[in-house]
Amino acid sequence: MVPHPPAASLDRLITQVIEPGLCVACGACLGLCPHLLFLDGRVAAPDPCGLEQGRCVELCPVAARPSPAVPAAGPLGKVKAAYAARAKSPDLQTKAQYGGVVSTLTALALAEGLVGEAILTAPGHRGIPQGVRAKTRDQVLASAGSIYAGGGALRELNQALSEDAGHPLALVGLPCQALAAARMKTHERYPSAAERIALSIGLFCTMNLPGRELRALLHQHDIRGPVERSDFPPPPAGIFQVWSEGQYHELPLEEVRAIRYPGCAGCPDLTAEAADISVGACEGREGWNTVLARSGPGEALINLATNLELIELEPAAESSLEHLSAAADAKRQRAEQEQNRA
Ligand SMILES: Cc1cc2nc3c(=O)[nH]c(=O)nc-3n(C[C@H](O)[C@H](O)[C@H](O)COP(=O)(O)OP(=O)(O)OC[C@H]3O[C@@H](n4cnc5c(N)ncnc54)[C@H](O)[C@@H]3O)c2cc1C
Ligand code: SF4
Ligand code: SF4
Repeated sequence: MVPHPPAASLDRLITQVIEPGLCVACGACLGLCPHLLFLDGRVAAPDPCGLEQGRCVELCPVAARPSPAVPAAGPLGKVKAAYAARAKSPDLQTKAQYGGVVSTLTALALAEGLVGEAILTAPGHRGIPQGVRAKTRDQVLASAGSIYAGGGALRELNQALSEDAGHPLALVGLPCQALAAARMKTHERYPSAAERIALSIGLFCTMNLPGRELRALLHQHDIRGPVERSDFPPPPAGIFQVWSEGQYHELPLEEVRAIRYPGCAGCPDLTAEAADISVGACEGREGWNTVLARSGPGEALINLATNLELIELEPAAESSLEHLSAAADAKRQRAEQEQNRA
């Protein structure tokens, strides 16, 4: 029998992830070659590519899922220190999603020269989020707040890594994006990633939404203007909150959950375990973040922000960490069921 030639990387990405509709628009496969495009919040592969060992499928967080087993370090992964924190600056308190810790730490890393650019996500054409490259505090502030749609920001990270420049880079991204960035750093054929990705700030994430479907759902609810702010308040609220053109709207959570990326169902990571610092909401404390320092550089940046009085910091409450751990376990269990089913 004549053996089959090995399938090209792009073919594997298409058959395992893109065609089954499992792509979560992280962007890790984008910006590496001309064969993959990002259109209206979705990845498209218009041209064939014969490369057997392309990085696209090797970096994809969906093509190779992290294990849903509880890590040896515990349900939140490796944590050096856990805090409740918020930014002190009034401009951040008004613009940020919760406590503004992400934007504060990103702006500080730029100001101190720890990184020369930060890869963030900001609203783009028709509200579809897109990756942006920030060099100043003002640019960081322009990206503050959460957009509940996939923006493919790792395309900008790949683009920055392809340029003939030496400055270190920071990434702010969802757990799947932090995982893909960690894979870039250890990939044998991606030396610039190991050299230049210096900081990864991860956001807690339960699910994300495809921008086009979100837009259609908003239209069904007569929300046609730009979304100024949106949020999933914690259970038992059961709603998705949207502020648009000065009006406040509530959408039933089940309608929003019905349009989430199918690929999010098999994702076991709530708290961005591959990041240097992970940040999410702080249960029961409006305007505050839960912050997990995971690496030495991550902990040092948090300490610097505290010493410079840019953030207010307290040890995380035991009860808050217990609830977060339970939520992380629940996400792992749902992912395990999905991975076994698939
Ligand atoms: C899709 C999504 C799901 C989330 N789910 C949860 C959850 O289940 N539980 C929880 O506690 N927190 C969740 N968060 C995180 C939370 O909303 C905040 O991002 C986090 O607490 C940081 O708050 P902050 O005030 O410090 O952020 P800010 O200082 O306002 O900074 C927010 C940062 O988020 C980045 N960002 C915005 N939209 C996106 C996007 N679509 N993709 C990647 N990066 C983005 C921006 O670049 C910005 O740097 C989610 C966020 C997103 C985008
Ligand atoms: S999940 Fe990310 S890496 Fe995988 S196909 Fe989608 S955009 Fe590309
Ligand atoms: S649930 Fe997982 S795969 Fe989906 S957007 Fe969040 S981190 Fe990415």
